[in-house]
Amino acid sequence: MRLVILGPPGAGKGTQAKKVAAHFGIPAISTGDIFRQNVADKTPLGRQVEEIMASGKYVPDELTNELVRNRLLEEDAAVGFLLDGYPRTAAQVDELDSMLAGSSSRLDAVLELTVDMDEVVNRLLKRAEIEGRPDDTEDVIRHRLEVYTEQTAPLVHIYSDRNLLQRVDGMGDIGDVTGRLLAACDDFAV
Ligand code: AMP
Repeated sequence: MRLVILGPPGAGKGTQAKKVAAHFGIPAISTGDIFRQNVADKTPLGRQVEEIMASGKYVPDELTNELVRNRLLEEDAAVGFLLDGYPRTAAQVDELDSMLAGSSSRLDAVLELTVDMDEVVNRLLKRAEIEGRPDDTEDVIRHRLEVYTEQTAPLVHIYSDRNLLQRVDGMGDIGDVTGRLLAACDDFAV
């Protein structure tokens, strides 16, 4: 399975990506997690992206694309993958297309987690208390939601035009949401 999970910050993508990926025995690849690890390890990439991330902006496409290109070449991604947080811009969609074409593969489905926006802000504020992420302050949360609406929400149309999109209700019990996502994947696995 080659999957993408889309949805606004706070939709529960990370949690669900891990569960769905475990079900299919594929790696869940989160660009946000990889960037955060680089920041924590103070790598050159981490130093480059730290401020950008803390302000809620997107990391430039060139950096993000290179990171994903390298990650998809790792052995564990040969059997499939679930991308969480990538692609996020139309240029990243094009780049992912070219990566997949290079390995003669294609996406099986794009899962869109839909959530109530007020609920998203509450979830993110709660996560800020627990995890203390520097991009979970109220102003930055608002900015991240704006950036999502402007730059990433339009990706839904691109994938829907390709008949790859599955919209899944992301509200409610975590296990129920996972069940809905897996059912959506079954629809595509034929
Ligand atoms: P996330 O954990 O997916 O919410 O990502 C956290 C932050 O990492 C984002 O707000 C961006 O600054 C950066 N980031 C993660 N993925 C991407 C991407 N595909 N394109 C650009 N920036 C990204």
